[in-house]
Amino acid sequence: MNNTKNKLISYIDALRPIIYINHFDFNAVDNLIGQVVDEDKIYEYNDAFGAVDFKWKNPKDYNFKKDLIEFLTDFYDKEEENYLILKDIHFHLENSQVIALLKAIALKRSHPKQENFETTIFIVCSKLMIPLELEHLITVFDFPLLSKEEIIPIINGFIKDNEAKNADQKIVEELALSCKGLSEFEINQILYLAYQNDGEINLDDKKIIIQEKEQIIKKSGILEILNFKENVDDISGLENLKKWLRKKAKIFKNLDKAIEYGVDTPKGIMLVGMPGCGKSLVAKATARLFEVPLLRLDIGKLLGKYIGESEENLRQAIKIAEAVSPCILWIDEIEKAFAGVGETGGGGDVTTRLFGNFLTWLQEKENTVFVVATANDISKFPPEFLRKGRFDELFSVSFPNEEERKNIFKIHLIKRRKWSNKIDLSILAKQTDKFSGADIEAVVKESVENAFIDDKNFIETNDIMAVIKTTQPLSKSFEDKITIIEEYLKKISFKSAS
Ligand code: ATP
Repeated sequence: MNNTKNKLISYIDALRPIIYINHFDFNAVDNLIGQVVDEDKIYEYNDAFGAVDFKWKNPKDYNFKKDLIEFLTDFYDKEEENYLILKDIHFHLENSQVIALLKAIALKRSHPKQENFETTIFIVCSKLMIPLELEHLITVFDFPLLSKEEIIPIINGFIKDNEAKNADQKIVEELALSCKGLSEFEINQILYLAYQNDGEINLDDKKIIIQEKEQIIKKSGILEILNFKENVDDISGLENLKKWLRKKAKIFKNLDKAIEYGVDTPKGIMLVGMPGCGKSLVAKATARLFEVPLLRLDIGKLLGKYIGESEENLRQAIKIAEAVSPCILWIDEIEKAFAGVGETGGGGDVTTRLFGNFLTWLQEKENTVFVVATANDISKFPPEFLRKGRFDELFSVSFPNEEERKNIFKIHLIKRRKWSNKIDLSILAKQTDKFSGADIEAVVKESVENAFIDDKNFIETNDIMAVIKTTQPLSKSFEDKITIIEEYLKKISFKSAS
């Protein structure tokens, strides 16, 4: 909390005219602002009641609520140094008069006659809406997540107030760790739910915490939590990558010890390469190896129409991932999010900023969100993305070699209960050069289907060969695209996953 306080103080001291606090827990925000500025100089306006008293939240205009424009117009004339808190006003931030008034108040200090009457404006909203005209005046203040040390007294306070049974300090500490990423309001709600269950606060309540976190993910609409069966044994080949992941899993699962030893927290990997060659499979296997949930970021939903919307969505997604951490954050087709980076104007600016925010987060992050970024074609990606230090490692994934293809056939035949020693994997592998894993899976699927239709109890090499002959692999259907990826992979110095 001290760091947070100091950061806010530094923004106020640096005379940032508008500080945008994007948070839904208004109590927590009030608590922070109350600690850093003189409460007697605060004016508050919220969309529900109009002007209210900061401390007691009593509406000031009992009989009729002033609208925001009226309130700001009156406020502009105040001849004093003060602070203005505006809550839930994001709906008004499309109104040109509101924008103009905010700008006038923010710039009052630069007016020679009024330089002693400066105002710091705090906009406190659960949604980030930055009008273009105010962009250069606004500083976004990220309300940080509670640390374990801050959560422990919240839980202890709840236990004391409710005289809950069975909660020794070890349990409290473990629950506090699971609650990381949640606000004080959310934590109290969960504790209440848990307490109502059985009058106790115990380790079983972790389940409720996880359910609550899943709710948060669902509500976000940007992230989805994946349920899947695959594990690392379902991947044929990619041995280098699998070995690397096993090492990182050991660190991730023993993080406290590892950090104490001097090991850095694993950040993430980037996998680039051919479509259908197991990148998604690796994301799933990583979650299995690390024994944590897998969250998939939907790039399509990330990109918004309004200024700041994409950044807000990314910030939101990152916050949620941190809330759910430890977890794997899988960013599939990452090239789609950052297409146009470096281009100026319109969409290019947005993606460049989005990209910058993401890089900073990736570089500085010390949390337990492990990123798995996957992409096919990154030939247009700016090089800074691929610099070491962002990701722990960059791997290239190519078409499976002969040995790997044999195994992919076997894995998918076993999966469909049609594997037999009589099937000659060498012949199948020899005939499927440049087939992706997905192509091979499709061949097996079709062969099994054909055998069922023909009332056969088993599958023979020839049945599969017949399907191979009629199959057009991806490498043929998208030859041009594949050549670009192949050329690019030859140029860059990624580690080979195989
Ligand atoms: P894209 O870039 O098109 O998203 P991808 O590289 O993520 O493709 P996956 O979705 O992981 O590819 O692979 C598609 C399917 O192909 C997998 O579900 C799996 O069944 C099969 N497959 C691909 N590679 C392998 C492999 N190395 N071992 C076993 N199965 C594989």
